[in-house]
Amino acid sequence: SADTGDEVPWLSAFVGRVQGSIDELTELDRQAGDGDFGTNMAAALRHFTVPLRGTDAEVLRAMSTSFLVRAGGTSGALFGLFFAELARAFDESDDRSEALRSGVGEALRQIQDLGGASVGDDTLVDALAPAADALAGGSSLSDVAAASADGAESTRELVASRGRASYVGDRARGVVDPGALVVSWFFDAAAERA
Ligand code: ADP
Ligand code: MG
Ligand code: MG
Repeated sequence: SADTGDEVPWLSAFVGRVQGSIDELTELDRQAGDGDFGTNMAAALRHFTVPLRGTDAEVLRAMSTSFLVRAGGTSGALFGLFFAELARAFDESDDRSEALRSGVGEALRQIQDLGGASVGDDTLVDALAPAADALAGGSSLSDVAAASADGAESTRELVASRGRASYVGDRARGVVDPGALVVSWFFDAAAERA
């Protein structure tokens, strides 16, 4: 459970930021998808109260379960997988850079296996792949966060060929992919918080 033990400021910062941005995320998916992304995020995080408590691995595992069980949509499955892989990596190492280096690369592989998206398809892979590359290259966490933010921003000019956002075609141009944005917020939190 994620409600006893020490506070986990970095994961609390991430969860709090998503919880505080539900309307913005809904609006992005409304413009470029089917409009349910914010609702899916809110459902996944409904039972989380910041500050989160526990070990990194415990909190990440609780997040994974909640995304898999409570969130609908593609994002529930993909973020559920993402946090499950990270929980496994933090079980192996509580050094954040080291755990992210092994967990993010494996999460990316599984997300691409499941969802079939490549870089440039206007999905969260556009924010995750650059982060995985930066981690594999030994970059600092602030450089990893910057790479992920640039990747998220790159989706503004893209039109989705995967997921429900692909149904709206050119309407998505000019709109940042909300899944990519949330992934970049995760790396922001990893870089900036204790
Ligand atoms: P749905 O498309 O089922 O309505 P959500 O609105 O919950 O799903 O999530 C949409 C987000 O999921 C998108 O912003 C995108 O980042 C991500 N996504 C959708 N399809 C894929 C895919 N095939 N691979 C990776 N990410 C995807
Ligand atoms: Mg949607
Ligand atoms: Mg949907």
